[in-house]
Amino acid sequence: MTKTENKSKLFGIIGTPVEHSLSPKMHAFMAKSLDIDMSYELFDVKPEKLHTTMENFKKTSACGFNITAPHKIEIIKELDEVLDDALCMNSVNTIVNRNGKWTGYNTDGDGFCISLLFENCEIKDKNILIIGAGGAARGVCYKLAEYGAKSISITARTKEKIHIIGEMVKKYSDAEFYPEIDKTKKYDIIINTTPLGMHPNEDKNPCDFMDIINESTVCCDLIYNPCKTVFLKESEKKNAKIINGLGMLVMQGILAFEKFHNVQLDRKKYYEELNCLLADYKI
Ligand code: NAP
Repeated sequence: MTKTENKSKLFGIIGTPVEHSLSPKMHAFMAKSLDIDMSYELFDVKPEKLHTTMENFKKTSACGFNITAPHKIEIIKELDEVLDDALCMNSVNTIVNRNGKWTGYNTDGDGFCISLLFENCEIKDKNILIIGAGGAARGVCYKLAEYGAKSISITARTKEKIHIIGEMVKKYSDAEFYPEIDKTKKYDIIINTTPLGMHPNEDKNPCDFMDIINESTVCCDLIYNPCKTVFLKESEKKNAKIINGLGMLVMQGILAFEKFHNVQLDRKKYYEELNCLLADYKI
């Protein structure tokens, strides 16, 4: 296919595995409601094939892709331009082709923060504890700091990764940063960013300090399948407010859709509608 031959609007998600991705359903729903003609497909791409895949897409008129694990860092090399915040996070989850120029964005961090606000969980001036220091944690911490968190503390097994996030938070925000948990401190929000609680570790709770959780804590998990992880179930028993990762998934999708189609959506309306569409994953 050459650039001039293909008039259809091709979008999709690139990652591996991708067969269970909910993104096709979400994007099809939004496109249908706005009468946008497009196709959204799954592209299961192994790491060693990412470069060739992108070279091939660049020869077509493919319009944009969501990028998921394990390619969020490596995709950066394939792009003509990357937005500053995505570069700081070192993570791109959305790429858009505008007249042959491929631009990378990260909508995960904003997606998470906006979903918290939509769930009536304030971020500004809050003390936040993050469990895990991987790619998702980087994006989430960057944006939580930007949205005005008072402090961000991280507990994770790889200290070097905590340090990298700390440097980023201190460089780009006024938020206080603590590279460890203080079990005497009152955390307003605790967020699990590890895969513990998800298949094949459904029975694992990443939080071995449940004592610090009470009815005034908001406990979040980036996982949405299962919809209630052990961490969220145990937090609920302590009367904490619980939020799973579905809202983040939905919101990053809405923000990506806006970039793909150059539209401004009624975000709250689509947030609610997509949460209903994906009711199986809703708490
Ligand atoms: P990642 O880069 O691999 O980071 C995973 C983090 O969890 C790392 O800090 C890792 O520690 C830690 N970890 C993994 N296994 C552990 C274990 N057994 N014990 C203690 N810590 C462990 O992954 P990611 O991309 O950040 O994704 C993290 C989670 O967020 C996944 O569950 C993913 O599905 C979810 N996610 C959800 C959304 C959404 O839209 N809801 C979006 C993105 C990600 P080490 O670095 O030491 O290995």
